[in-house]
Amino acid sequence: MKFITSDKRVHILDAHSNVWSVIMDIADSGVQEEAFYVCDLGDIVRKHKTWKSFMPRVQPFYAVKCNDSLAVLEVLTALGTGFDCASKAEINKVLALGVNPNRIIFANPAKPSSHIRYACATGVSTMTFDNETELHKVKNLYPDADLVIRIRCDAADAQCPLGMKFGCDPVTEAPRLLEKARELGLNVIGVSFHVGSGCREPAVFEKAIAAARVVFNVGLELGYTFDLLDIGGGFPGDRGTSIDEIAEIVNSALDTYFPSPSVRVIAEPGRFYVSSAYTLTCNIHSVRDVIGDDETTRHKMYYINDGVYGSFNCILYDHQRVVPQPLHELPATKYYSSSIWGPTCDGLDQVVEEVLLPEMQIGDWIVFENMGAYTLPVASPFNGFPVAKVHVVADENIWLLLKDILPLTEEHFVMNRAPTNLKLGFEDVERVAVSKLPIRM
Ligand code: PLP
Repeated sequence: MKFITSDKRVHILDAHSNVWSVIMDIADSGVQEEAFYVCDLGDIVRKHKTWKSFMPRVQPFYAVKCNDSLAVLEVLTALGTGFDCASKAEINKVLALGVNPNRIIFANPAKPSSHIRYACATGVSTMTFDNETELHKVKNLYPDADLVIRIRCDAADAQCPLGMKFGCDPVTEAPRLLEKARELGLNVIGVSFHVGSGCREPAVFEKAIAAARVVFNVGLELGYTFDLLDIGGGFPGDRGTSIDEIAEIVNSALDTYFPSPSVRVIAEPGRFYVSSAYTLTCNIHSVRDVIGDDETTRHKMYYINDGVYGSFNCILYDHQRVVPQPLHELPATKYYSSSIWGPTCDGLDQVVEEVLLPEMQIGDWIVFENMGAYTLPVASPFNGFPVAKVHVVADENIWLLLKDILPLTEEHFVMNRAPTNLKLGFEDVERVAVSKLPIRM
């Protein structure tokens, strides 16, 4: 089948197609020029299964900031995850899908007042804090809120450290803040932390859970009975990575420090769920040869139609390293020192500084896997280069699993114009309220 449409459809993959064949269909269609994504919903569903099997005690609250595409949010809603929202708009987006407010944590320790008011008006009561002024704000605006104190415990090595901005010291600051909360008559229900996004020190989870235990005990001394532990994000999500090591450490630390099932444990994974689900394909529109003194090409500069102001903002903000793969195998008699550049007129707009590539031509396509996390929500059409469109695909099995429970709307989920071997049609899809039918895995 040919895929030449935009993101308002879910394309069903038959036994003969996969993400790469879809990419080839689109790229070779003869009508595609812009960069485009393929999002595989099956990848998200498989991640959820993995999470449930590795950390059955930890309920995932997906971090919406990571990728707020409707396709992602709708699938996760159907799978029954909760959501970590950082703002009024994110809360609004999740509530609009019919998610119960008790499946949302407002996990931003420094919230604008109007956003707290909105949380109050919509019944999103669970929210984090790490400073005293936030306590006063909540006292004024939402005195019945269920507060979660965010402590700091940083991984020694993380792609994006967060501790310099958020999290109070569990020993020197947390007791004072909890005393203040008590004095203000506020309801504190638990402890959260985030060890840093893209955590490269799994053992830090043990330290952080132990520190959370200490804060639980402080709470107890002050008359609180905390029953929520939120272990934040930091889980890897690229193809070929695994959460097994972190999961083993988390599970064992929970057994040690929080053996009682009366403590509910949640996490806020972002990149784990979406990174590998999205593959970006870009087109080369210009090539520049850098010629050496000996008159031969020393280096090749490829200019592609997405860059650091678009999807590859992740290089600047998320410190990602992206890996280019030519879509089609090229007769590689010779590899050239090459660099890849975005389309804008800014010299900063460099996607790959140095890579060995076979010789490529204008019109050739380059594929980048693992592009689902911290890419699309930040991308801008700077210089008039549009943000890449998303083509959503799902294997037939995954679609059969999802089709009855997705909150399908004509706007966001329309079946592919039926290829002959496809039995499902949009009319076939029964609409059922998501909240009534979470998938149990
Ligand atoms: N929770 C909070 C409060 C965050 O700030 C972030 C990321 O910045 C996340 C969760 C998601 O982290 P990750 O994508 O590493 O899982």
